[in-house]
Amino acid sequence: MQAKVLREFSRGRHKHSACITDALKAAEHSCKERGIRFTAIRRRVLELVWASHEPVKAYDVLDILRNERSSAAPPTVYRALEFLLEEGLVHKIESLNAYVGCGEPGHLDSGQFLICSSCGEVAELDDPELVKLITEKAKQIGFSIKDQIVEILGCCSQCLSSK
Ligand SMILES: [Zn+2]
Ligand SMILES: [Zn+2]
Ligand SMILES: [Zn+2]
Repeated sequence: MQAKVLREFSRGRHKHSACITDALKAAEHSCKERGIRFTAIRRRVLELVWASHEPVKAYDVLDILRNERSSAAPPTVYRALEFLLEEGLVHKIESLNAYVGCGEPGHLDSGQFLICSSCGEVAELDDPELVKLITEKAKQIGFSIKDQIVEILGCCSQCLSSK
């Protein structure tokens, strides 16, 4: 089974507005199906997380929102991010303490993230084989896995070729 690319590197030349539109549409759809309200603030925060292919920090989101609406307080932003995380619409990259939009919402507890240390972009893979392997290896030492978010550092092809 091949790894599925849920979120690609932008490669510097794609139409990113399409990524944002797709992500917002998918989120709307998923919330509707689950009977959850996709409020204006949740939508805007998701849009800001998707502003580029680079992870976004909570305080960056807060900064932008504060300029847009005076009512934007830290708890509002954190609650919206928490909601997006719980719904699998964004993921938290722990090593960077920042968020990325999910390329295909619906999996909360596993994922492999490729982090380019040169341009800062993050790609997302869904590799069931890898998940299985890690689960089995952990089991061998009696470890039970809850979340399996793998963060991998490296260099994307775009950055490699421009070196
Ligand atoms: Zn894009
Ligand atoms: Zn994802
Ligand atoms: Zn790169």
